[in-house]
Amino acid sequence: MTVLVINSGSSSLKYAVVKPATGEFLADGIIEQVGEGPIADHDAALTATFDKLAAEGLHLDDLGLVAVGHRVVHGGKKFYRPTLIDDALVEEIEELSPLAPLHNPPAVLGIEVARRMLPDLPHIAVFDTAFFHNLPLAAEMYAIDRKLADRWRIRRYGFHGTSHEYVSRQAAEFLGRRYGSLNQIVLHLGNGASASAIANGSPVDTSMGLTPMEGLVMGTRSGDIDPGIIMYLWRTAGMSVEDIETMLNRNSGVLGLGGANDFRDLRRLIESGDSAAQLAYDVYVHRLRKYVGAYMAVLGRTDVISFTAGVGENDIGVRRDALAGLAPLGIEIDEARNAGPSREVRCISTPESPITVLVVPTNEELAIAQACAEMV
Ligand code: ADP
Repeated sequence: MTVLVINSGSSSLKYAVVKPATGEFLADGIIEQVGEGPIADHDAALTATFDKLAAEGLHLDDLGLVAVGHRVVHGGKKFYRPTLIDDALVEEIEELSPLAPLHNPPAVLGIEVARRMLPDLPHIAVFDTAFFHNLPLAAEMYAIDRKLADRWRIRRYGFHGTSHEYVSRQAAEFLGRRYGSLNQIVLHLGNGASASAIANGSPVDTSMGLTPMEGLVMGTRSGDIDPGIIMYLWRTAGMSVEDIETMLNRNSGVLGLGGANDFRDLRRLIESGDSAAQLAYDVYVHRLRKYVGAYMAVLGRTDVISFTAGVGENDIGVRRDALAGLAPLGIEIDEARNAGPSREVRCISTPESPITVLVVPTNEELAIAQACAEMV
C-alpha cells in the first residue's frame, strides 16, 4: 500500500511515493522550472514525474497506490482535517486564494492535473493551516477593527502545521512521554521559517499569521515588520502594492540583508568576512531568540524545544547561537552533542538541562501519506 504525495508550487512540483505503514520512500523528487522550457505547465510537470518514476522502474499500476495526498497551504477556518477532494472542495480552495495568492492557485493546478491523470484514486487535501485551527482566540486575533477583521477573515491561521505536529509528536515519542503531557516549542527553520508553542498537545501560538510572511526572519521573507513600513514605501517611495509584496516575499530576509538565502552560502560569505552576511545572520538569530523567549512566557513551563527543517536540522551555529547563554532560563546546550551530525531524532542539551533541546528531522510527506492512509 503506497500513497503518492504531491506538493505543487508555482514553479516546482515535489512528489514522493511513500509506504505510510513503514515510512519507506519508494521515490521522491522535485520537478523544477515549471512554466519554463520543456515543463510548460503543471500537466507537463506531472507527466515528467511519472516519466521519472518509470525511469526508476516504478510503474503507476504496480505501486499499490491507494490515494494521492495533496499539500494545500491555506484551509481557512473551514478545513482542518484531511479532506476528500471533489469539485466543490476545489472551488472552496480556489475561493481561499486571496488569503494565499502565491500558494493556493498552484496547489489547485496540481490537484486538477492529478485528478485528471489518476481519476480512479481518491485525492485528499492536507492543509498546512490545520494543526493551528483551534488557536486560543487571544493568539488568533489581531488587534485591529473587529468588524473589518470578521468581514475579511483576518486571523492568524499559522502554517507549516503538518511539520509542527509531526515534529512535536516525534519529540514526545523520542522522550517516551505522553504527547498531551508536554509543553513544547517547535522551531521549523527551512526556507520559510515558523515557531510554535504547544501546551499539553494543543498549539497555543505560532509565528505565521494571515499569510506565511509573519514572524521569524526567513530565507527571502522579512517576517515581522512595522506595518507602517508598507504605507511609508507606498506613500513616500512610490512603490506599488505588488512591488512591496514582492520585496517582502522574495527580496527580504537573509537574502535581502546578506545577499544569500541558502544558509550554506550565507556561512561561506560570513567566513570570507562579509559584514552584510554577518548582519543578516545576527538579525535572524536575534528574532529567533526573541520568539523562544516569548513562547516560554506563553507556555509558563517549557519541557522541550525542537529544531527542524533544512536550517534547524543542519546548521550547528544557528542552534548554538539562538540558545546561547540561556542557562538562567533552563536551557543548556551540549556543544559536542550539538555538533554531532545525524539523520535521527537526537538530544543536544546537557543531561542536567531542565529544558530538553532536540533536533527532529521533519517529514511532511510521510505525515501527509499517513493522514491519507488513515482516511482510506
Ligand atoms: P523548504 O522550506 O523549501 O521545505 P527546507 O526545509 O529543505 O526547505 O530548507 C531549505 C534550506 O535549508 C536551505 O535554503 C538552506 O538554507 C538550509 N540548509 C539545507 N541544508 C543545509 C546545511 N547542510 N547546512 C545549513 N543549512 C542548510
